[in-house]
Amino acid sequence: MEMEKLVSLCKRRGFLFQSSEIYGGLNGFWDYGPLGVELKRNIKEAWWRDMVTGHDDLAAPPGAPEAYEMVGLDCTIIMHPQVWKCSGHYDLFVDKMVDCKESKKRYRYDQVPGRWVESRGQKLFVTTSVEENQEADIEHRALKFLNLRAKDAADLTWQSPLISLAKIDPSDYGKVLGPDAKSLGTLTDPRDFNLMFKTIVGALGTEEDAAFLRPETAQGIFVNFKNVCDSTRVRVPFGIAQMGKSFRNEITPKNFTFRSREFEQMEIEFFCHPKSSPQWYQYWRDRRVKWYTDLWLASDRLRLREHDKEELSHYSCGTSDIEYAFPFLAAGEFGELEGIAHRGDFDLRSHMEGKLVARDGQLVVEQGPDGKPKWKGSGKDLSYRDDLTNERFIPHVIEPSAGADRGTLAFLCEAYCEDQAPDEKGEMQTRVVMKFHPRIAPVKAAVFPLVKKEGMPEVAQDIYRALKQRWHVFYDEKGAVGRRYRRQDEAGTPFCITVDGQSLQDKTVTIRDRDSLKQWRVKIDDVESELGQRLA
Ligand code: ATP
Repeated sequence: MEMEKLVSLCKRRGFLFQSSEIYGGLNGFWDYGPLGVELKRNIKEAWWRDMVTGHDDLAAPPGAPEAYEMVGLDCTIIMHPQVWKCSGHYDLFVDKMVDCKESKKRYRYDQVPGRWVESRGQKLFVTTSVEENQEADIEHRALKFLNLRAKDAADLTWQSPLISLAKIDPSDYGKVLGPDAKSLGTLTDPRDFNLMFKTIVGALGTEEDAAFLRPETAQGIFVNFKNVCDSTRVRVPFGIAQMGKSFRNEITPKNFTFRSREFEQMEIEFFCHPKSSPQWYQYWRDRRVKWYTDLWLASDRLRLREHDKEELSHYSCGTSDIEYAFPFLAAGEFGELEGIAHRGDFDLRSHMEGKLVARDGQLVVEQGPDGKPKWKGSGKDLSYRDDLTNERFIPHVIEPSAGADRGTLAFLCEAYCEDQAPDEKGEMQTRVVMKFHPRIAPVKAAVFPLVKKEGMPEVAQDIYRALKQRWHVFYDEKGAVGRRYRRQDEAGTPFCITVDGQSLQDKTVTIRDRDSLKQWRVKIDDVESELGQRLA
C-alpha cells in the first residue's frame, strides 16, 4: 500500500487533518476528523474495556501466574516539577541533535542515515533526508558533489552500508555531506535537547514556577501508588491504567502521526512481587500482542522484539517492543507501537528517595556537588505490606506503554484495501475499502432507502432511529445506492442495510457485508439482534 493513498483518504473522508491547517499547519500536530475521532475513541475504549473494566479479577487469565486486579486513574498533565527531576526526565529525557550551519536545519543525529564513499582519493560520508530509496539518493548526491555524471557511478567505491550519523566520530564531521547541504563539514557536534515542553504556572512567571507538560502518563500513576493502595482494597499483584495526552518536543516529527509532538498514551503500571516479576513480564508481552491481533493487526506485519542488553535503560531488567511494519518504512523495517518494560523498583524508589543512578550494578541516589541528593524524593514510604504474609517490600513494575495515535495509525494502515467489486452496471471496478474490525469501525452500520420515494425513506428512518439507540449508525438517501455503498466502504462501515420495494411488502431488508460483499434478507424486527451478533 502506498502511504500517499492512505494520507489522501484520511483527509478526503475526515479521518485526520493537519492541525491549524488554514494557517499552514503546525509540524507535529494532528486533528482527528469526524470519522477519525470515532475510530480513535473505539480503540481507546477497546483498550480500557479489555484491560480494566472487562478484566476478570477472580480468575487467572491464560498465561498469568495468578488472578490480579486492575483499576484506572486520570491524572493532570502538569504535575509538580519535582516529579520529573526524580524520574530522571529533567536530566536525561534528551535526544541528541545536530544543526546544519548551511541549511539552518536541525536533525536528530541518530536519524540521519548515510554511507561512506571514496572516489579519486577523496573519502566522504554522504547523508540523505529522504525516506524512500535512500541509497539511490545518496549515490545521486555523491555524484553531484564530486562533479561526476550518472555514467561515472562505477568510480564510486562504497566503504560502508547505510549507517546512522550516530556511528560517526564527531572528529570526522568535516567529511560529512549534511542531508540538505552542498558543502562538507556543515554539521555541528551533537548536543542534548530536552524533549519536555516547558511552561509557567501562575502569574509571577519566574524560573522557579517553571513546570512541564508530561512527556508520559506513567509518572502520574507512580506518584498516586500510595493513594490507590490507601483508598481501595487492591492487593499486589494489581495494575493501574491511565490514558491521556502526552507531549514531546520531538526534533523531527514525521511519518504522518507516527512521531507527533502531542499524542495520547495508554499505559499500565503493573505492581507485583519481585520474585514473580519475570513471569508477569512474560505474561504482559503476550497479552499485549494478542490484543492487537484480536483486533486484526496481521501477525506477519506485527512482531515482538526483545531489546539487546545495550539498548536497555540502566534500571530495566528486560524490555520488548511490539512493532508494526508501517508502509512508510523501508522493506524489512518496523516501527514501535508499544513498549513493555520490566522496570524493577526503580520508579517507586525514585519517588521515595530521589533521582537514582546505577553504580557498581546497584541503584543509588545521585548526589550533587554538596554530597546531598541531587534531586530529593518525596520521602514518603511507597513500600507495600502484604497483610497475609506480613512481608514488606517495594513492588516491581511491569509497564506496557502504548500509543493511542500510533495504534490508530497502524489500524488505519492495516485496514486499507483495494479490491474489485461490481458497480451498478455489474462491471468490475476497483474499490477502496477500510477493513476495520467491527469493534473499532467508526460507523457500525448505514441505513439506506433504495430510492427516495414510495415510503422507503420512512421505513429506513425508523430502522435508523431504532439502531441509533445502541450504535453509531448513519442514514443516507442521497445518490445512487452503489455510490452510497462505496462511501461506506471507504469509511469502513461493516454493514449496510437497504430498504427496497420488497421491504414494503414482506417487512424484510437486505444486509450487505463490507468484506465479503454478500447480501442477505432479514426481517426488520430481527435487524437489531442480527447486528448485535455480528458486531460482538
Ligand atoms: P520512540 O523510540 O519511537 O521515540 P519511545 O521508545 O520513546 O518511542 P516510549 O517512551 O516507550 O516511546 O512511549 C510509549 C509509547 O508512546 C510508544 O510506544 C508510542 O506508541 C507512543 N509514543 C511515544 N512517542 C510518541 C510520539 N512522538 N508520537 C506518537 N506516539 C508516541
